[in-house]
Amino acid sequence: MGRVNCRNGKTKSMYVLDASAIILMKAVFREMVTVPEVIQEIKDEKSRIYLDVVKIRVEEAKEEFVLEVIDTARKTGDAERLSDADIKLLAKALEINGILVTDDYSIQNVAKRLGIKFENIMQKGIEKEFKWIRVCRGCRKITQRKICEVCGSETYLKRVVKR
Ligand SMILES: [Zn+2]
Repeated sequence: MGRVNCRNGKTKSMYVLDASAIILMKAVFREMVTVPEVIQEIKDEKSRIYLDVVKIRVEEAKEEFVLEVIDTARKTGDAERLSDADIKLLAKALEINGILVTDDYSIQNVAKRLGIKFENIMQKGIEKEFKWIRVCRGCRKITQRKICEVCGSETYLKRVVKR
């Protein structure tokens, strides 16, 4: 569980992120995936910027797994508490045997029944506190602006570890 085979034969963990895992921006994993419905849930600008910076894969959930999730959620009594995005997210985690990162109790409950591993957002990646800074592409000045006030070049967001 939670392991997928890579082309090079090694195994690695794939993390499947819900909206709050993405919004909190503390969950930084090497291999991340989510579903389009989760991306649509995310409206705040900071998280959208984050999505541009990190390489998170966005994949559609497959129908067969969606049906299995719905079926299981009915059995556990969680069906009414799950959003469309929640169901698709569970379906994606089921398909790729990923580790689901969520604090949502209903999602966790259904995940448990389906044999999907999950982790709470707060228990993951907390030590890796970081912040975002904006750096000029031209002169490397650290600035708040999108266009550098010194040389007029575009700036980009860079993640740095908090000290
Ligand atoms: Zn500059």
